[in-house]
Amino acid sequence: MTKSLTDLVQGVKKTARGIAAAGLIGATMFFSNGCGTPPIEKPKPTAILTVEKSQVQSGQENKIEVDGTIGGDPLVDKISKYYLRGPVDFGASLPLQTNIPVDVFLTYFTNEQMNIPLEAQVESNKGVLSDKVYASYQVNPKIVEDYINLSGVIEDSETDSPLAGAKVRCYRADKTFITEVTADEDGFWTADWLKYEGDDKIIIQAGKPPESFVRTTSIPNEDKSNVLVRAVPNDLEGFVEFAQEVWGSLPARFDSTGFQGFKILTQNPTGNGTFTQQQAEYLQSLVLDPSNKIDEFLNASSYPVIIDPSEPYTPGSRNIHVIPDTDIPIGEAYLEDWGPYSRVAIGGSVRMNPTNISNEMLEHVLKHEAGHLTYPSHPTTTESIMHTPPTQMDYQPLDLKGTCISNEPTFIGTAGGLYPNSIDYRKNILKTEFGLEGTVGY
Ligand SMILES: [Zn+2]
Repeated sequence: MTKSLTDLVQGVKKTARGIAAAGLIGATMFFSNGCGTPPIEKPKPTAILTVEKSQVQSGQENKIEVDGTIGGDPLVDKISKYYLRGPVDFGASLPLQTNIPVDVFLTYFTNEQMNIPLEAQVESNKGVLSDKVYASYQVNPKIVEDYINLSGVIEDSETDSPLAGAKVRCYRADKTFITEVTADEDGFWTADWLKYEGDDKIIIQAGKPPESFVRTTSIPNEDKSNVLVRAVPNDLEGFVEFAQEVWGSLPARFDSTGFQGFKILTQNPTGNGTFTQQQAEYLQSLVLDPSNKIDEFLNASSYPVIIDPSEPYTPGSRNIHVIPDTDIPIGEAYLEDWGPYSRVAIGGSVRMNPTNISNEMLEHVLKHEAGHLTYPSHPTTTESIMHTPPTQMDYQPLDLKGTCISNEPTFIGTAGGLYPNSIDYRKNILKTEFGLEGTVGY
């Protein structure tokens, strides 16, 4: 009942205004007939633009009001149009032009700080426009209180025993330091911090120098438990000398990221040379036999070993091709390796002359040439598969430790540039100090 009564009262008021307007029109016509009366009053309205908050977060609404006055009085009835203009991109939730009294909530979505410039104007019901007025407010990226929680274990890569008291350092993707924690008696550690939004990864470096070399790895920028870091013990007799000797001045690394596996070709794809099916199958069994430790040597957990793949031979791909080649002397073999960076291999081709080759020589040649993915030289120590003439048929601890360290992403970093000298070995190559200088592939 009350509502009906109100409607009725408003109806009456509107009618009254209609009558007043009609009277005014009559008066205008009368004055325009030239009876010397004052001119029609057309006061200029003034726009008022109000922005509730000067700063909001992305996705948070902000209340915007446009009002006006005429002659200092807030006479709503005398303003017929309200204009509000501003950007409509950035995912604004409302258009910014209206002709109703403006009382809107604007919402913008952005990943970068932005300013919203607003412009407002009102128009009186006599068609007189106000001056434009301006305001702006800032939209900031949303702050998410998201923590990273990590936990993991650091252990000795040769004995699998925990490295109590080892240091673990975490870095942002741009290599800035975040935090350092210490592993407990079980080699276990935890770390947490406010997440750095936008980073794609976290770099983790762990070790217990001088007992072990420092190892570096990276994980996605998200929570993770059971992060395993296997530190290489700094304990092998003669290892530093071995490393200096076989790495010479150009140490190398095999990057197993995206490694597609071994491809054994029974026919040389461009020239002379054939493996028998039996030879190819023997080579295949050598690669697949875990006791040969080729997976360990390549730092790759599992991959196929295919004889005569259907795809064409593609030098430069992430494969290791094994190719018969009679254009090289009998009893000889070599490795072509390739990679996107200097001294970082992603694949290669082992070429060997298959003429009168024994199974023993097939095995030695395959492992020795794959060894050249890491080692450019031949040592005088007979305790290495890289020694020539061959005295070892298997990867020895010297070889495996060297590969393990060469797969350390900071490995190539040196004090004086890409090519290490003997002073660099302990400090930069066999890394016993924390830091991320120098190289690619974290
Ligand atoms: Zn060689």
